[in-house]
Amino acid sequence: MPDYLAALNPEQRDAVLSTEGPLLVLSGAGTGKTKVLTTRIGHLIHSKRAFPGQVLSVTFTNKAAAEMRMRVSHLLFGEAAAPQEAASLWLGTFHSICAKMLRRHAELVGLTPQFTILDDDDQQRLIKALLADNNIDHTKFPTRAVQNVIQSWKDRGLTPDKIPEAAGNYTLPQVAAKIYPAYQARLKALNCTDFGDLLLHMLVIFQSHPDVLRQYAERFKYILVDEYQDTNVAQYLWLRLLAAYHKNLCCVGDDDQSIYGWRGAEVGNILKFEQDYPGAKTIRLERNYRSTSAILAAASGLIANNETRLGKTLWTEASDGAPVRIKSVWDDNEEARFIGEEIESFQRNGIALKEIAVLVRAGFQTRSFEERFLTLAIPYKVVGGLRFYERMEVRDTIAYLRVVSQPHDDLAFERIVNTPKRGIGKATLEQLHISARSRNSSLYAAVEHLLSTGELKGKTGATLQKLIAQFDTWRGKLGDLSLAELADLLLEESGYRAMWQADSSPEAAGRLDNLRELIRALGDFPSVAEFLEHVGLVTDSATQEQGDMVNIMSLHAAKGLEFDCVFLAGWEEGIFPSQRTLDELGTAGLEEERRLAYVGITRARRHLTITHAANRRIYNQWQSSSPSRFIEEIPTETLEFLDGGPYASRSNGPSLFQREVESILQTRVETVAPAASNGLSKGMRVFHQKFGNGVILNIEGDHLQIAFKHAGVKKILAEYVEPA
Ligand code: ATP
Ligand code: MG
Repeated sequence: MPDYLAALNPEQRDAVLSTEGPLLVLSGAGTGKTKVLTTRIGHLIHSKRAFPGQVLSVTFTNKAAAEMRMRVSHLLFGEAAAPQEAASLWLGTFHSICAKMLRRHAELVGLTPQFTILDDDDQQRLIKALLADNNIDHTKFPTRAVQNVIQSWKDRGLTPDKIPEAAGNYTLPQVAAKIYPAYQARLKALNCTDFGDLLLHMLVIFQSHPDVLRQYAERFKYILVDEYQDTNVAQYLWLRLLAAYHKNLCCVGDDDQSIYGWRGAEVGNILKFEQDYPGAKTIRLERNYRSTSAILAAASGLIANNETRLGKTLWTEASDGAPVRIKSVWDDNEEARFIGEEIESFQRNGIALKEIAVLVRAGFQTRSFEERFLTLAIPYKVVGGLRFYERMEVRDTIAYLRVVSQPHDDLAFERIVNTPKRGIGKATLEQLHISARSRNSSLYAAVEHLLSTGELKGKTGATLQKLIAQFDTWRGKLGDLSLAELADLLLEESGYRAMWQADSSPEAAGRLDNLRELIRALGDFPSVAEFLEHVGLVTDSATQEQGDMVNIMSLHAAKGLEFDCVFLAGWEEGIFPSQRTLDELGTAGLEEERRLAYVGITRARRHLTITHAANRRIYNQWQSSSPSRFIEEIPTETLEFLDGGPYASRSNGPSLFQREVESILQTRVETVAPAASNGLSKGMRVFHQKFGNGVILNIEGDHLQIAFKHAGVKKILAEYVEPA
């Protein structure tokens, strides 16, 4: 028996050796599904059942594809082999494989092989123009909403002639139905596709040119698919067509890990596999090789709360290991501090940073970790997303703040002069540049100059006049308002926040969260200059991407991966399960959130820690939050509650708060000089939970006289305020 087979357990080996006919490997996390798939590819080639070019393998991300390619090369050509050895394998995501196919047959759908795949911005611009052509009000039917409906049709494999009839009068589906054929025609005229088209065009070609389908269906003797539970209808149809000839389709997946329903994934695809492929063999793997038994028991106990599932048994030979730890913290700062310390301690115990992951539900949660890790000089990377201060909406807001504090910052001014859209076009910008160059001034000064000479006229002139006036007003408020208040105001008055509120894409909500988080972060800085300096440092230290680093990522991005130590942060009602998902999808949404929790827990090999904060600050308001229901759903015997219990931070609120204040004061003493012995000094801006922001007028022992912005002058015990 070759080594690669000897390394497998009997069920896994069966899955590798059952090469002929449809096969489904349906089993829980960490049971070796991906390992089976990789070994199977290697085995098919090694045993000469197929040439590499006759095997089609589909994975979920490019990263997973690259990893798989490497493993197959090692298996076939030894550990020293380069991934190129397996270059002729058709191995990639649905998108990348369809793009490769479509370039060969582009003319069949009226494109040339050099077609461009449009990015999101360009798609929106196209749809916007089409809405205008059709006299459809884009404030009532936002571009993004129309784009989403079209995308969802494409996910379901529906070309414009096949979309369902929409009831009602002048509804979004009706508007989208009107735009869809025109949009497709425009894409074709421009020799472009969007992402959904890659698959859709191939479906169309397969249906209208049976010879092309036959060519591929005959060629791919073996087809393998990982994470089958997250395929959508279009992908499902594409696979069925390709597998119709040889019927050697092997799909692996786990219904409990279906987490992309919101993007059109149909868990039903995996559940009806045996029906779709009569005579299919199903293999269940039950031994988990990844996690300790405590982690596995926690995951199994949690997912048992879902009603719509097949149900499976999982066992491990690994020792019990450490219990799953639950840590209650006061707020997100303490959460970041705690996890930072834990990581340092893991590191001291010889665990590599790349073996550690912090998984979050929502993008905004990464900020506090990023800042804490920078302070502690713990290298980190944000996997599958941007670092907080590099995100578009955060950079846009920072650009506004830069222009407020430094009107002559041309880069910042150019970034936001037409964001949100104000109708300032290329021609106007050119005019500004020419004037600025000739007078050796900034763009901002050029606007002022051209307005004064009357050279900027009409609508453009009025718009710029208003913008300059707004910047003057905001600048005037620099002293009166706290930074957070100022940012809040300018996001409101500039229409920037409204722009994202009007956007109905799935990402828009996350962007609004990030704006809120940014405002929260601004609360920690006394001036724009200090904040900008901080951002400069943060972004500067973020250039390095290689080496041993902690992984920060979303639960969604962590699918299929594994780490020695995992931290699951922010397990609070509203954040996780996400309130938005519950509101939109009800019980189905709750079950998908629970599957996401299951995915999170099962990423851990040896150590798992779940944290929840008792308070979150939204803008400048503290909101108390309760621990996620998912914590209660994990069997208690697998858990260890640090600090005595899940509600410790609530019942011991004041003492935790006390500690929090003390630690804030300590950091202040180190970083802000000179300060009174308790870290607070006259003139300092402070924040009080009930009365909000204020400035210290006087210090008498441990009592402070504070002038609050809204509540007037009050005498307050020092321990109840914190520096703002
Ligand atoms: P997920 O559902 O999270 O995608 P999976 O079922 O794909 O998990 P793998 O990632 O393939 O599981 O395997 C989990 C871990 O178990 C990997 O580290 C893998 O190398 C190891 N493993 C799998 N099978 C065996 C085996 N027979 N012997 C030793 N280790 C194994
Ligand atoms: Mg896997």
